[in-house]
Amino acid sequence: MRLAVIGGGINGVGIAWELARRDYDVTLFEKGRCGAQTSSATTKMIHGGLRYLENLHIALVRESLRDRAWLLEHLPDLVKPVEILLPVYDDSPRSRVVIRAGLVLYDLLAGRSNIARHEALTADELMARVPLVRAGLRGGFSYRDAQTDDYALARRVVASAIEEGATVREQTRVLSLRSSGKEWIVAIAGGALERFDFVINAAGPWMNAFLAENGIRSRYRLSLVRGSHLVLNHRIADAGMLLQSLSDRRVFFVLPWKGTTLVGTTEVMHQTSLEHVQATNEEIDYLIARFNRYVRQPIGRDDIASTFAGVRPLVGRATNPSTIARDYRLERRGNLLNVFGGKMTTFRSLSEKAAMRVDNYFGQTRAARPAVFISASSPVGQP
Ligand SMILES: Cc1cc2nc3c(=O)[nH]c(=O)nc-3n(C[C@H](O)[C@H](O)[C@H](O)COP(=O)(O)OP(=O)(O)OC[C@H]3O[C@@H](n4cnc5c(N)ncnc54)[C@H](O)[C@@H]3O)c2cc1C
Repeated sequence: MRLAVIGGGINGVGIAWELARRDYDVTLFEKGRCGAQTSSATTKMIHGGLRYLENLHIALVRESLRDRAWLLEHLPDLVKPVEILLPVYDDSPRSRVVIRAGLVLYDLLAGRSNIARHEALTADELMARVPLVRAGLRGGFSYRDAQTDDYALARRVVASAIEEGATVREQTRVLSLRSSGKEWIVAIAGGALERFDFVINAAGPWMNAFLAENGIRSRYRLSLVRGSHLVLNHRIADAGMLLQSLSDRRVFFVLPWKGTTLVGTTEVMHQTSLEHVQATNEEIDYLIARFNRYVRQPIGRDDIASTFAGVRPLVGRATNPSTIARDYRLERRGNLLNVFGGKMTTFRSLSEKAAMRVDNYFGQTRAARPAVFISASSPVGQP
């Protein structure tokens, strides 16, 4: 039985790893470098997603918190706890009562594998940890989540998939997918045709176009929502912050990141090409203005070392991209499995469920070898 995975983002590499551990003969095709697209343009948070509770995405948050605990245990050198501070001001769109309720629920959903319970902090306690603007500060909260190097995570998973026997073909674009009844014929760049018994399509944001080009119908359609980040040339604090934009109620992060500071993200419907996605001037100005509302040492363009942007593949449609769930959907049609959406945090659950769908198709449940990642010593390079 030959299986193909199309797309080497965190979801595709996770699925290849999961299938290889079940001794499937799996080949992954990635048009560039594994992990170099959306999966290396994230906010670097391994988190339940406190803000998703506002839209009552409880099951997603619970699953993400379970996966956060699993990743902290299995990849302790790559996934590390981080303290996040949540200051509340006189004009904050969400009150202390609402935030406290969210944090209590977040702790409950994390259960026994929680990193630590949230704490209430006075304005003075907050000011001692981060350089916040004092005027109007009422106090706030501290809670724990986790952070990772997203690209290194994807590279570690792909290296582990190879170790388990998966074949990984980078710089190999799948041009088309044709069904011959029982098999799929995969045409790859260079003109070669290869036959597979089952195909898993994990093309991330390229999914809509790929399905349309190949005449494959689906119940789902992705909304493509760009998110941009600033990398400052200095570090603000050891703790991160979750801050609220006054104009549109959105939340955004200010996070310690490799000796510097990461500020993001935006959420803008993405209308242009998916190749070389970049932060626009408007998004950069938006993030600078939001940051300067809260931090005592204001920043300008000179304080930005670099910017990066990615496109979220979100399942469904809404006028406000912040309200679209970060959930994933797996859709099996015969011997084709399409993977829609998902967060980096939930790649393991998603991959496990994908492998179970493959098992279902072949009518046999295969046990996976234990989850062991290869050591950190192999170089990962830059995306
Ligand atoms: C701004 C932003 C911030 C985010 N922050 C977080 C966060 O903090 N925490 C979190 O958990 N999640 C976060 N996410 C979500 C997370 O990044 C994505 O859900 C995840 O990376 C999606 O992975 P993927 O494998 O589906 O897509 P991708 O990483 O884009 O992978 C798809 C791959 O398919 C390849 N491909 C496409 N077509 C073909 C083809 N025809 N042939 C061969 N290869 C092909 C592409 O080259 C690409 O590498 C964020 C997303 C964004 C955009």
